[in-house]
Amino acid sequence: MLLYNSATHQKEEFIPHQPGKVSMYTCGPTVYHFAHIGNLRTYIMEDVLDKYLRYAGYDVTRVMNITDVGHLTSDADEGEDKMLKGARREHKTVMEIARFYTDAFFSDCEKLHIRTPDIVQPATGCIDQYIKIIEKLLADGYAYVAGGNVYFDTSKLKRYYIFHDFEEEDLAVGVREGVEADSNKRNRADFVLWFTKSKFDDQELKWESPWGYGYPGWHIECSGISMKYLGEYLDIHCGGIDNAFPHHTNEIAQSESYLGHPWCRYWVHVHHLNTASGKMSKSKGEFLTVSLLEEKGYDPMVYRFFCLQSHYRRSLVFSWENMDNAAAAYNKLVARIASLSPAEGETVDEAGFAALKQRFTQALDNDLNTSLAVTALYDVLKADVNAATKQSLVADFDQVLSLGLLDHAAALNRKKAAEAATATAGDAPAAGGAGEEDPFTVEILRLIGERAAAKRAKNYAEADRIRAYLAERGVTLIDTKEGTTYRRD
Ligand code: AMP
Ligand code: ZN
Repeated sequence: MLLYNSATHQKEEFIPHQPGKVSMYTCGPTVYHFAHIGNLRTYIMEDVLDKYLRYAGYDVTRVMNITDVGHLTSDADEGEDKMLKGARREHKTVMEIARFYTDAFFSDCEKLHIRTPDIVQPATGCIDQYIKIIEKLLADGYAYVAGGNVYFDTSKLKRYYIFHDFEEEDLAVGVREGVEADSNKRNRADFVLWFTKSKFDDQELKWESPWGYGYPGWHIECSGISMKYLGEYLDIHCGGIDNAFPHHTNEIAQSESYLGHPWCRYWVHVHHLNTASGKMSKSKGEFLTVSLLEEKGYDPMVYRFFCLQSHYRRSLVFSWENMDNAAAAYNKLVARIASLSPAEGETVDEAGFAALKQRFTQALDNDLNTSLAVTALYDVLKADVNAATKQSLVADFDQVLSLGLLDHAAALNRKKAAEAATATAGDAPAAGGAGEEDPFTVEILRLIGERAAAKRAKNYAEADRIRAYLAERGVTLIDTKEGTTYRRD
């Protein structure tokens, strides 16, 4: 498989450190608010990568943190802790909002068929691990204490800017208008490993450390959690493109200085989802969440489908019109899958299956080209193979795409059957002379509809149960070409 590696700026053959095994780390959400659908684009694409590696036969271990402390309002070391701001906004404690938004995040993930990583670790649960790393960095001369905080000394590195070739002087990280640069830093790019002093004294969560009562910086969390669970050699580290700098750059600086050798081989960054007016935001304008999509009548699968239709290394523009187009295409796709009806005893054509599957794997092997993988799915529906082969390919591809295709197709068929049955039952002559309002007649007609739906869903046991139930009550069902009528004894 070829994967674009942001660290080398090129597509590379993916070769894990240990044959057959993949260690994968994902930067998790900062749980101070709901995730917006931009955040979730990143998690959807990472989910496809995770699932495709499993599909390709790798034994994947995936770890994700939950950022519940230390992520300041600027990704550099300025501003207030986002969690504290969130807690104040809602008049709750930091841990209360962490719990609430962590649950909300996983509920969104479930709706979008994003698999929960094997290990999910809140940052507040690994304080000892960060302290251990920081102690070694200090002992080895990579860190210094100034003004009560511990800083990483970027001047000790041969190469600090891994993902971009910045000129230090051009860089104004975190130094936004109204935010003063931290005068404790020896070099502009240095970053905080441990805070004991901050302009914001009301930080809620603090721990004892060799440098005083304080809290970890955001970057050390991901290095610490990753190394704790995945060891000294990491295969893949993922995140949104905004994480590349300074977050991932700082993770590499501290992890490799701590370990004394290269740490992570492949860096995968998902580009942003933007709105027509620019950056997606949690504070301005319409806050785009999965719940908002649902309120507006979109199935979350439509959003996943929308994401898969574009490449993860291109930024994607969200608009309601784009969602409508995605919904129309998704529904049409599901309808085509629903119309597949293998004949009794039809078997899968193995050669046809293998040829069509190859198009799918070729697409994903080429730097996770999901839009071509979706095209491979359309190729299946057009192909000259039997319905059983098509159905089985849809099921196979959907292990990776996770678009709920067969489930949605089955639901569509059930809905159609129920509608047809209702129409038939409605047309059925009200034999037996009882009036329309007679509750038993209403029940008979309802049951005739349900029985027709059960038969169409091939649930003959249920159909027979309904027939027997009515027979016991003196109602005989009569199946005709036009539908089912009845006779009351
Ligand atoms: P956060 O909750 O802010 O820590 O971000 C969670 C994830 O979403 C990170 O991997 C970010 O890089 C990613 N992210 C943030 N904004 C966007 C966006 N507009 N589109 C795609 N991913 C994003
Ligand atoms: Zn991270």
